[in-house]
Amino acid sequence: MRKTAIVTGASRGIGRAIALRLAGDGFGVVVNFAGNAAKAEETVNEIVSAGGRAIAIQADVANPDDVKQLFDKTLKTYGQIDVVVNNAGIMPVSPIAKNDVDTFDKVIATNLRGTFLVLAQAAQHVAEGGRIIAFSSSVLAKSFPAYGPYIASKAGVEGLVHVLANELRGHKITVNAVAPGPVATELFLGDKTEEQIATFSKLAPLERLGQPEDIASVVSFLAGPDGGWINAQVLRANGGFA
Ligand code: NDP
Repeated sequence: MRKTAIVTGASRGIGRAIALRLAGDGFGVVVNFAGNAAKAEETVNEIVSAGGRAIAIQADVANPDDVKQLFDKTLKTYGQIDVVVNNAGIMPVSPIAKNDVDTFDKVIATNLRGTFLVLAQAAQHVAEGGRIIAFSSSVLAKSFPAYGPYIASKAGVEGLVHVLANELRGHKITVNAVAPGPVATELFLGDKTEEQIATFSKLAPLERLGQPEDIASVVSFLAGPDGGWINAQVLRANGGFA
């Protein structure tokens, strides 16, 4: 049986690059999205045109029923789940003194509760020998002003990854996180000025922004045969933005 991967948030950005890469690696891919069905279909069509297998499934990762049906539909379609990549995430910025609890709740719901719900389903359904990959961020080490809610959510993700790796002892399933530095996607570019983007581009010694494919390569490694001995780690893929 060919292997199957679920990639959350695969309609755009890093998730899209991961879906394309894993399909190229031979996985049947589930392209999850929140609201952007047209973009998700584009990702699916690109995979299928290249001879791969993919389907799109809508699910809000913060909603337990949605996440359950994401896994149920995947099992119904492909019969087995080998790799789960919880890439979906948002990055609103707000200084702590602003006391913007709505932003805090939203980013915690998508990034931390979403990771919890996806990891819970993954722990129940990923086949022996499988891989579970969550998404943190290298910005944890920077503690930039206004990143409080986002950094809090991603610090929680790193905690969950370490605990789940221990809980899955004996199942031959690895659990890791990838923590990118700045990557040229809508999430990062957002409403930044050209000047801000240029400044961020120079922060890493490699002096460029990451591209979605840089991160997809790391996920491909963790999901593939060569990544099998990496477990309970946070892989900081950032060109040296430490
Ligand atoms: P983008 O904003 O480019 O894409 C986000 C993706 O997540 C979209 O596919 C979107 O779907 C999906 N999504 C958003 N909310 C939900 C939700 N509630 N349920 C399901 N899917 C959802 O983000 P990036 O590709 O840049 O980021 C991907 C991951 O990488 C995130 O976890 C982010 O925190 C992390 N990261 C990114 C960095 C960067 O510089 N870009 C740096 C460090 C970490 P839809 O199109 O339907 O809205």
